[in-house]
Amino acid sequence: MSVRKILRIGDPLLRQVAEPVTKFATPELDRLIEDMFDTMRDANGAGLAAPQIGVSLRVMIFGCESNPRYPGADPLPETILINPAFRTIGDVKEGMWEGCLSVPGMRGYVERPSHIEYRGVDGQGRRIVRDATGFHAGVFQHEFDHLDGVLYPDLIRDHKLFGFIDELTEAGVIPGVSGE
Ligand code: ZN
Repeated sequence: MSVRKILRIGDPLLRQVAEPVTKFATPELDRLIEDMFDTMRDANGAGLAAPQIGVSLRVMIFGCESNPRYPGADPLPETILINPAFRTIGDVKEGMWEGCLSVPGMRGYVERPSHIEYRGVDGQGRRIVRDATGFHAGVFQHEFDHLDGVLYPDLIRDHKLFGFIDELTEAGVIPGVSGE
């Protein structure tokens, strides 16, 4: 078990474009993925991207049965995605109050395409192609953005819909969630 330090917004490493992975089924990659799961679970995260622990590679994970940080969200399949890509299906957008382990204690309202098809490979280099909607599609796109150095506050259009969880909860803007 190795819980790594999660970088926070302001750290320039979070703003780099991460490099593709070229070697699969290696002990180094297995170790990275294991550390990412340990770190994500320790922080009750729904997803994590390698740059968040200071590794500039195109690796993301997500998955949770139920999450105290996102009550009421659909369960997410446990997923490892390397060198991912996606396309949007249709032009419907969906708004979500997003949070990020690199922006602790805060939430912001972000709109993203609600239906996507994503693809990538797992740690062994096996292909994954999936259709995703709603929370699943939103989490994928959030983690994907990390690989390009984009953080969700960049996507908030109305900055009044951004703030600390405690204040937003007290104001009745978001339902109560356990903070980071
Ligand atoms: Zn994040």
